[in-house]
Amino acid sequence: MTDAAPAPPSRAFVSLIGAGPGDPGLLTLRGAQALREADVVLFDYLANPELLRHCPQAETIYVGKKGFSEYISQEQINALLVEKAREGGGKRVARLKGGDVFVFGRGGEEAEACVAAGVPFEVIPGVTSAVAAPAYAGIPVTHRELARSFAVLTGNTQEGGAHYERLSGVDTLVLLMGVRNLEAISADLVAAGRDPQTPAATVQWGTTGRQRVATGTLGTIAQAVREAGLEAPAVTVVGEVVRLRESLRWFEDSDLFRRLQAAEAEAR
Ligand code: SAH
Repeated sequence: MTDAAPAPPSRAFVSLIGAGPGDPGLLTLRGAQALREADVVLFDYLANPELLRHCPQAETIYVGKKGFSEYISQEQINALLVEKAREGGGKRVARLKGGDVFVFGRGGEEAEACVAAGVPFEVIPGVTSAVAAPAYAGIPVTHRELARSFAVLTGNTQEGGAHYERLSGVDTLVLLMGVRNLEAISADLVAAGRDPQTPAATVQWGTTGRQRVATGTLGTIAQAVREAGLEAPAVTVVGEVVRLRESLRWFEDSDLFRRLQAAEAEAR
């Protein structure tokens, strides 16, 4: 008499995938592969829904915190990740997050939830908007002559408040989640010693057909953004590198921009 066959190993697995900043061409090859292999995909407001064409086989669940009539909390998302991974005999879950997985956006907490539940996971980094939105606006975050360092900071004052004086040695500042608080943040940066004449630019919906850019100085950028009517999601760059946009802007006049605009218009 033979013993019953051992239970097959569980398929439960979570891929935390950086979707890139918006342009669907900026997903990594490994990210695309994980989407093709997924049983379930949990995707964000900032992850381009166009990317779901990589996973027609999968159950897709929108867990964006924007556009939901009911607010879905981070704790609920963490719980759903684990629940879906354990469903049936275990499922492959792709968690598609805007930009990079571990640059804000609470990806670290999702990884911790997997660890706590004993669900194996992987991290597939993505192209972060902190670098890509400036790049598509013609702004390199570093430059041999103008900037030898950059810092990425949150403008969301709920996430811990600012320590701008600690950033005094950093050449380029890239501010995420800060459009609404731009007035206060720029004033704080000036109070912490940054020159109000420092060039600044805000890039809304960077790398997409909806990209729009406002420029000014640290002293004027909040007003420029207000006048242009720019809203979240947007990245603000502060530093001498912003001057380079004048000669390096490439995207807004490109075929790529027109193609993305056409594709987005069709999707709407
Ligand atoms: N993990 C993401 C950031 C998440 S926090 C990343 O690496 O890009 C969300 C913030 O990211 C937004 O408030 C905005 O500041 C920024 N952001 C994301 N996508 C953007 C885009 N396409 N253009 C401009 N800013 C963007």
